Amino acid sequence: MRFFCLCFLLCLFVFPLQAVPPVIIIDPGHGGSKVAGSLDQRSNSSPNNAQTPGGLKEKNLTLEFSLILKEEILKEAAKAGPQVGVLLTREEDRNLDFVQRAAIANRPDTACVVSIHFNAGGGKSALGSLALIAAEKRNPSYQLDHRFGKGLAEACNRGVQAYLPNSKSRGVITDGHLHGGLGSNFFFQMLRHKKLREVPKCFLEVEFIDNPEVEKALLKSEREKKFRTIAGEVAKYLVGWVRES
Ligand SMILES: [Zn+2]
Repeated sequence: MRFFCLCFLLCLFVFPLQAVPPVIIIDPGHGGSKVAGSLDQRSNSSPNNAQTPGGLKEKNLTLEFSLILKEEILKEAAKAGPQVGVLLTREEDRNLDFVQRAAIANRPDTACVVSIHFNAGGGKSALGSLALIAAEKRNPSYQLDHRFGKGLAEACNRGVQAYLPNSKSRGVITDGHLHGGLGSNFFFQMLRHKKLREVPKCFLEVEFIDNPEVEKALLKSEREKKFRTIAGEVAKYLVGWVRES
């Protein structure tokens, strides 16, 4: 017994107990070439939704943006203050169904979940960043998600405005219009986990990419630099949120 106690104390000396840093989960929407999951189980993730007039696919832009966002979060987290971690649900061109994405997000140290998307279908001149959250009637964290999403859309749009000065934050919308009123299947899968019912979560629709003006200003030349500006604002917001909560 004494031996084990000694070993324990020795381990504490060599590996001092540290608080586990909170983790920001970033989910790059879509990916791969096939639908993942099934409609029956409400786990189906489409490989791609939006596309630019020039043929750029949302699934590639979400991954590019998320990889840069990860770097920016780590950069922001390295500044003075408590540690913050970041985890992407995918780092390559593959699709994961919503059961898998929710399982990756469901960690004891998860601080928040953001699924990155690019929007389409608002009309050819639509502009604006927005957050999508689960509708109030099935969302125990509705108020929290709303506050989180509102600030997130505003932060994202501050970065977008550097290249599209007329773009505005569209704030928060809910998923009540999706799947005949059932809402987003990703939220459905996340809300099955106690931990994920409690943490703030939303989709971030960065900008409307079927608008030719957006493609020209944001996605043609120097995309990495422009994504880094936007991701920098998003990272500042997320790390600030986690540190304050
Ligand atoms: Zn999408």
